[in-house]
Amino acid sequence: MDITLVEESPFRFRIERRGAMRVPGTVFATRALLPEAAGDQALEQVANVATLPGVVRASFAMPDVHWGYGFPIGGVAATDVEAGGVVSPGGVGFDISCGVRLLAAGIDRDALEPRLRELMDVLGDTIPRGTGPGGLWRLPGRPQMEEVLAGGAGYAVEQGHGVPRDLTFCEDYGALEEADPSQVGARAVERGLRQVGSLGSGNHFLEVQAVDRVHDEKAAAAFGLRPGGVCVMIHCGSRGLGHQVCTDHVRVMDRSLRRFGISLPDRQLACAPVVSPEGRAYLGAMAAAANYGRANRQLLTEAVRRAFTSAAGVEVDLVYDVSHNMAKTETHEVDGVPRRLCVHRKGATRALPPGHPDLPGELSGAGQPVLIPGTMGTASYVLVGEPGNDAFLSTCHGAGRVWSRHQALRRVRGEELRGRLESEGVAVRPSSWRGLAEETPEAYKDVDAVAAATEGAGLAHLVARLVPLGVVKG
Ligand code: 5GP
Ligand code: MN
Ligand code: MN
Repeated sequence: MDITLVEESPFRFRIERRGAMRVPGTVFATRALLPEAAGDQALEQVANVATLPGVVRASFAMPDVHWGYGFPIGGVAATDVEAGGVVSPGGVGFDISCGVRLLAAGIDRDALEPRLRELMDVLGDTIPRGTGPGGLWRLPGRPQMEEVLAGGAGYAVEQGHGVPRDLTFCEDYGALEEADPSQVGARAVERGLRQVGSLGSGNHFLEVQAVDRVHDEKAAAAFGLRPGGVCVMIHCGSRGLGHQVCTDHVRVMDRSLRRFGISLPDRQLACAPVVSPEGRAYLGAMAAAANYGRANRQLLTEAVRRAFTSAAGVEVDLVYDVSHNMAKTETHEVDGVPRRLCVHRKGATRALPPGHPDLPGELSGAGQPVLIPGTMGTASYVLVGEPGNDAFLSTCHGAGRVWSRHQALRRVRGEELRGRLESEGVAVRPSSWRGLAEETPEAYKDVDAVAAATEGAGLAHLVARLVPLGVVKG
């Protein structure tokens, strides 16, 4: 299918409704950031998503959009729960609740400098990563796993892995109540038992950063960020458990499509009505996997705290933890009427504006921190939600890939990349040369341009720009 884009503004393009599309597509980007035609079918995927039963307003793409499984990565779509709206596991992604957590350390980059190598060595030695088992918290069996699946970061804190304050600064206070551990299969549990407190591979990382520039002083101060301050960004998800949950439920939904009379332009969009047994089962399992993801990031936070205490003698506070692969039931006004919607954010971040009722009192005045990783060689950003955001209060989730992993491997060697990054002042602790090369900064869009487009489109505004000091790569 050829996609024609209508320019609505320098930051907003429309894909007209046609064929089986129930709503138009809306692409937030500049011309320069639009996915290149060759090989990237992200915009066709935006149009495909617009055919889903119950979809409302538009199928949205963020400035970091790129090709994904069924839905594009950087895609947002909401369906009306009471009007036959569906939930699609492909609209969440295989790494359920993959997300970003930002920590602020009580030290400035200049003071840390003499101890940075030692800190990176401690982190490199103690943060489990790569594929396979090796998490910091070995769960003995299904009963303890069910506690993690139901309680998320809250259960981890209860068990001594963190402080109650951490939960205030987690989306959903660290756990989704609607989690249904009984919908998480034996294979998923088996895969997850030994992975709580581990990064995973490639794109996942733990990065020591410094605040390079403050764009909104008031919000930055409210988030505990100051120029020169040291931060730690953790990017990881629900490991093998989340992946297995997605696989299991896609299979069930694929088989039930005909029964629900749903026809799709792409089987990878397999879905079921939110209110059907299949839809509920998936959402219960997804919420459980999301809680696992939050517990995972909580355990890694504790490892960071131990490293900062031993190498630098300083404390570390949580700024925020937000998922970018989730479907959530939320109320939004559509055509002037409040509706219960199933909002899919796949490679997209929730972005609540100041005063939003779902925010904790501590963040109500400033709004929700929006955490946008860039690359290990460029910058990352903190933004804050804007009230005018009509993409169901969502933003981008990163810079977004432009080279496939395969293309990156053909063009870059891990050893050379490490040398280059080290010479630019970034301490690199890789887990494999191959994994490092796949994540070369050139494989991603220009994060400064993505952040500027996100602001230009009115989705969120800039609070702080962060630069890398050292990275532990998955
Ligand atoms: P994803 O969830 O799609 O795998 O990745 C989210 C974003 O993380 C990517 O779009 C990319 O911009 C960013 N990213 C990947 N690797 C790194 C890294 O090592 N450091 C930083 N700061 N960002 C990264
Ligand atoms: Mn992930
Ligand atoms: Mn991710």
